[in-house]
Amino acid sequence: MLITQTLDPARCAEKIRNAEKMAVLSGAGISTAAGIPDFRGPRGLYVTRRYDPDKVFEISAFRGEPHYFYEFTRDFVTEVRDVKPTFTHYFLAELEKSGPLTGIITQNIDTLHQLAGSRNVLELHGSYRSASCSKCGKNFDELTYRWWEKAMLESSAPPVAFCSACGGVLKPDIVFFGEMVNGFNAAERLIAECDLLLVLGSSLAVSPASSLPTGTQATTIVVNSGEVMLPPAPHRYFIDQNLDVYFRAVAEHLPMSAG
Ligand SMILES: [Zn+2]
Repeated sequence: MLITQTLDPARCAEKIRNAEKMAVLSGAGISTAAGIPDFRGPRGLYVTRRYDPDKVFEISAFRGEPHYFYEFTRDFVTEVRDVKPTFTHYFLAELEKSGPLTGIITQNIDTLHQLAGSRNVLELHGSYRSASCSKCGKNFDELTYRWWEKAMLESSAPPVAFCSACGGVLKPDIVFFGEMVNGFNAAERLIAECDLLLVLGSSLAVSPASSLPTGTQATTIVVNSGEVMLPPAPHRYFIDQNLDVYFRAVAEHLPMSAG
């Protein structure tokens, strides 16, 4: 019978030191630790403001009637614009600069990894960092939450952001339900090439990201508060703990300056 193995911080640090190529898969848990509201959690925007998750990010609903999505966006950007990356975000950025980390695959749309300094970030679900005109296709890159908030407040109610070139409705480059995720092949490659995989803050309940860790024989370290949908295996370690608490302890065993 397979047992669920755990891993103390010193041994985790040793595995990071010995890794040649390390990849990370991050989920909502790393963002909620920074103060981003969990869409579906008990304190989530869906619950508190009664947004229906299946409608907010549904592509045909957006095309037919974008106001609902934009009302959600107005609340979301107001809540997240001052959010800062966590210790774990900075820790990962440092491991890319001076360690074995080759890339981060994230399910999050909040750009906190990039804000912390990470460069190779595959955003499976896109982000609010850029937008495209749904009419003429013009791309608006390097947007910020402040930009979105300003656009929301300037528009007449209900708020919708429009293309400055043609007046069409802007759609942020977030992957909606009914659209393909971004960069899935690149994510599979990143994982196929790594010898150490960290799965952080994800219960692995959302497809297709949930399938990424299942095919690799690389040493896999899963850190998440709560249950994870990945069966135990000899090369897998499970740590049910707060990410920052765990990685602050790991960092003490590594020659780095994150913090
Ligand atoms: Zn346009």
